[in-house]
Amino acid sequence: MSPQYDPKRLDVNAFARDAGVLPCNESLSKFERLAVDAQELGNDVRVIWEAHGELKDGSGPTPQVWLHLQAHTTLLMVCQRCLELAPVEITANRSFRFAANEEQAAALDEECEEDVLVYERDFNLHDLVEDELLLAMPLVPLHEVCPSQPKMQVADADFEAEPEVKPNPFGLLAGLKTGKS
Ligand SMILES: [Zn+2]
Repeated sequence: MSPQYDPKRLDVNAFARDAGVLPCNESLSKFERLAVDAQELGNDVRVIWEAHGELKDGSGPTPQVWLHLQAHTTLLMVCQRCLELAPVEITANRSFRFAANEEQAAALDEECEEDVLVYERDFNLHDLVEDELLLAMPLVPLHEVCPSQPKMQVADADFEAEPEVKPNPFGLLAGLKTGKS
């Protein structure tokens, strides 16, 4: 019998103590912030994620509370090279150590490289999954290999003036970075 965990109100201490495992396979529509960046949503875009808790014996008087998270989905995004939709795989894989309070978190942040979160009794793991996937999204989505030729030469008068110049993907990226924040 494994206890039921609520990803939106998770007692991380108990989850770690029980070495809890929480596998989820949810519709993208459950992740509102993530869904706004995806184009032409199909009915069945899934977000697959799994969390597990762990107590680690560290050097301190009490064991460390850890949460390990893996998440994966595939979104359709506009390729910035050819402007067609591209399926973009998004994967997050991170571990978090929970501090008992803000002071401990600040101290841990200074002395170690770990990702530290502050313990809350009703921790929203679902939001963390979404945050991690948002962070993992590419700023400039691209096909690995575009299915068609770039359209910029035709669309952009500057390219017509210099027909010998091939569109440079890095120049394109630079333009995107400075053009929009
Ligand atoms: Zn493309």
